[in-house]
Amino acid sequence: MATRTIVTVGHPALRQRAKKIHRVDESVKQLVDDLIDTVSATPNGAGLAANQIAVPLRALVTYVDQKPQVFINPEIVEESEEVDEAEEGCLSIPGWYGPVWRKERVTVRALNEKGKQFKVKAADFEARVLQHEIDHLNGVLFIDRMEDKTQLHRVESDEEEEQLEDEQVFA
Ligand SMILES: [Zn+2]
Repeated sequence: MATRTIVTVGHPALRQRAKKIHRVDESVKQLVDDLIDTVSATPNGAGLAANQIAVPLRALVTYVDQKPQVFINPEIVEESEEVDEAEEGCLSIPGWYGPVWRKERVTVRALNEKGKQFKVKAADFEARVLQHEIDHLNGVLFIDRMEDKTQLHRVESDEEEEQLEDEQVFA
């Protein structure tokens, strides 16, 4: 079990466009294991991209319903016209939340931790987490996607955070 430090806004890795992974070798397997260990050890973590642990490679994990799924070189190959607005938070911008519009459904193609290609059709919360994490790989943060930046707000107490967690993405 190896948890890594999640870097926060201001760290240059969060603004880098992560590089494609050419071979899923032992070092990549170690990286995705560390991503899983780190997100599963983080309260409310729903996903984590490699940039968030300062590794500029195209790998992310989702952790929806506490089930880890690895996406290497993920690409959105289909998306719905329908969009949906919900509150998001980010493990790299701790304590801050704001509403973001996302596609309701996306189909993502990626490689798994064995280097095998797969496709996932995701909807709702899972689709939101995937869009948030793929943005990270492109150096984009949820605050960049907010139409009205004045709606960015801070949630101070654990109690308030608990009330909100069902509808929010901490990723
Ligand atoms: Zn994030």
